[in-house]
Amino acid sequence: MRCSSCEPLLDRFLEGTLTPREMSETAAHLRSCAGCARLLEELKVVDALLFTTYVPELPRNFTFAVMAETLSLPAPKPHEHRVWSFVALYLAAAWIAALAMFLASGASLTKLGATLAFGLGRLAHAFSGGAAGIGHGAPALATFGLGVLSIDLALACAAAVLYFVVRPRLAAHLASASEGQ
Ligand SMILES: [Zn+2]
Repeated sequence: MRCSSCEPLLDRFLEGTLTPREMSETAAHLRSCAGCARLLEELKVVDALLFTTYVPELPRNFTFAVMAETLSLPAPKPHEHRVWSFVALYLAAAWIAALAMFLASGASLTKLGATLAFGLGRLAHAFSGGAAGIGHGAPALATFGLGVLSIDLALACAAAVLYFVVRPRLAAHLASASEGQ
């Protein structure tokens, strides 16, 4: 028997499904051929790996125990703080960008303060006295941006107060009102 005709038979040789004649011929070749014998050993290893799949033994109360454990955990809370962290991040990034732009233009910090105050005054004037206030004097883009950012900051503070102070009180009020009924 040649190696080329022995190799395709090794699978069934291991399974023991060859004809008696093929079995004895293959066995005879394997005794004389180290290459095919090594191939047979590799096949045995692969078979051993395939047929020894490990199935863990579960305790009888596995499902009940898992469900009990799940129920004893605190209920997950919705991510309330995600919005606030986003607002804070946005404001911080916007302020840093605006300050960087301002300082990059060669201005000093005292001038920045003056510009900020001027911009806020200009914006306040514009809001109280109509849009005409912004038109004359041609405020610099940085001044306008810082003014807008200041308003952003004020709005964010107002929203935070509404959310963290007014809302809990309103909720408590509603709860006591529904208890009174
Ligand atoms: Zn061989």
